[in-house]
Amino acid sequence: MNNKMNNKVILVVLDGLNYQVAHDCMGYLNGLIEQQRASLSPIQSELPSLSRPLYECLLTGVRPIDSGIVSNHIVRRSKHDSIFSLAKNQGLRTAAAAYHWVSELYNRAPYQAVRDRFTQDETLNIQHGCFYQWDHYPDEAVFLDAEQLRLSHQPNFLLIHPMNIDDAGHKFGLDSSQYRNSARHADVLLSHFIDLWLADGYQVLVTSDHGMNNDRSHGGTLPEEREVPLFMIGSAFAHHGAHIKQTDICGLCCELLGLDHQKPYPKESLRYD
Ligand SMILES: [Zn+2]
Repeated sequence: MNNKMNNKVILVVLDGLNYQVAHDCMGYLNGLIEQQRASLSPIQSELPSLSRPLYECLLTGVRPIDSGIVSNHIVRRSKHDSIFSLAKNQGLRTAAAAYHWVSELYNRAPYQAVRDRFTQDETLNIQHGCFYQWDHYPDEAVFLDAEQLRLSHQPNFLLIHPMNIDDAGHKFGLDSSQYRNSARHADVLLSHFIDLWLADGYQVLVTSDHGMNNDRSHGGTLPEEREVPLFMIGSAFAHHGAHIKQTDICGLCCELLGLDHQKPYPKESLRYD
């Protein structure tokens, strides 16, 4: 078998980001690809193409139909091993700056803002958290919240989950300047941090839960609702554009972290020394 990896990992989930818009509008991330420091794979979201079901899919590798988290209205904790629970149970540190549904899935449900918005509890799956409950909470604030958590707690696994791209899509639709500009804005925010993260030994994945349609929604099977990007940034990735499923992303993170896990992952996407 392979030598175990031992990386720190940052998973950025830019909510509601369609693949083509990521490809066309995110010049910083695409510049890293041109310099062979990153790669981009298209991912087809699992179904339904909705947020809470796909947070669970990304973080546990389990499809919505199998996890039972089949709509945004199911408010309960996950019943599966997640990157957070596997990492915490194996002695790694976990953190998240994310929408409050993530706190509900892996820490406590229902979310109580006064109790849960700022979380510091080593016994929870997400030990260090800054959660928000507003779709218009600025992406810039989410990145600052995350960076504060990272610098204060040195998490092995950090989830960063901004919502403004999805919010612009619900207000203006896929084919709108506002939606595209929100993706461009997230690209600029990422450009402020990625070199710092790489220098501190993190491998970085940037992906999305689902895309967007011109009816200002998502949930079905249209290609624009399902096709999302996966940018892989860092020296642990093979960067040969392997075919990757959304259900592989959890296992990819577990493998990068060196966790014992049973999750599927695309071995050919990683570079083992
Ligand atoms: Zn949405």
